[in-house]
Amino acid sequence: MKIRVLGCHGSDLVLDGQNRHQCRTSGFLINGAVMVDAGTIAAALRLDEIRKIRHILVSHLHFDHIKGLPTLADSLVDDGCEPVSLTSTTSVLDGLTTHIFNNQIYPDFLQLPDPDKPVYRKVPMEANTDVQVGDLRVTAVPVNHLVPTVGFLIRDRQSSILYSGDTSVTDEIWAQAAREPTLKAAFIETSFPDEMHELAAVSKHLTPSLFAQEFKKIGKPDLPVYVYHLKPRFRQTIERELSKLGIKHLFVLEEEQEIEV
Ligand SMILES: [Zn+2]
Ligand SMILES: [Zn+2]
Repeated sequence: MKIRVLGCHGSDLVLDGQNRHQCRTSGFLINGAVMVDAGTIAAALRLDEIRKIRHILVSHLHFDHIKGLPTLADSLVDDGCEPVSLTSTTSVLDGLTTHIFNNQIYPDFLQLPDPDKPVYRKVPMEANTDVQVGDLRVTAVPVNHLVPTVGFLIRDRQSSILYSGDTSVTDEIWAQAAREPTLKAAFIETSFPDEMHELAAVSKHLTPSLFAQEFKKIGKPDLPVYVYHLKPRFRQTIERELSKLGIKHLFVLEEEQEIEV
C-alpha cells in the first residue's frame, strides 16, 4: 500500500525554518485512488492525479478534514468522469449536505452538474463493519472527539494500516488494531504540546503524553507509527516531546512524504 501525504497538520501555515515549508490540513492519498480525509486534495495535485481519485473516506465533519471537497468538485464539474464516492457514516454524510453542499455555502455537488451523474455520491458505511472501497477493505471505528468521528482500519491484500481520525482517549480502535494480523503502520493524531493539555482536553485531541498512553494500548511497541495533525505553530515543541518518549519507530509526518507498507 502506498500512502502519499498531501496534508498532515491540524491547520494551514507556512513554517520558516531552513526551508520554507507549507503545512496543510489532513489528506492522505492511498494507491493514487482513495483519499483518507479531505483537508487537502486539489491544493496538492495535478488534474491528471485528481482524475484518478475514485473514493474519499471522511473521518468527521470538522472543517480541516473536509475543506478540500468544494474545490475538488470545481475541478471535476465539467470533466464528465464518474461520481467520486464520499464514504463515511450517515451522520457525517448528512452533515456535508446540511452544512456545505447546501447551495448557500457551496453548490450542491451531490446533484450537480446532473442528478444522474453528479460530482459526488454518498456511500454510507456502518461502524465496525468491513466495506470494500476501491481495492481496499475498510472498517470505520468510532473514536472519542467533539463530534461523531471515526478512525479507519484500511487493508489491501498484504497490509493493513490504522488511521486514528481526530481523537482523545479511546479504546475500541486500539483493540481492533491489536487483533489485525497484517497491521504494518499506525497513523495517530497528536495536536498540542503537553503544556496545553487543558486545550487538548476540551477540544478532544491528544498531547505527546496522551499519545504514548494510547499507542501502548495497541500492544505492539515496535509498530511503525506516523504522527500527524500537529498544530503547525507548536510543531517544534511537539516533535521534541515525542522524541523523548523512546518509541522505536516513531516518525512525525511531513507534506509530500510517501510511505509504502
Ligand atoms: Zn482536525
Ligand atoms: Zn476534529
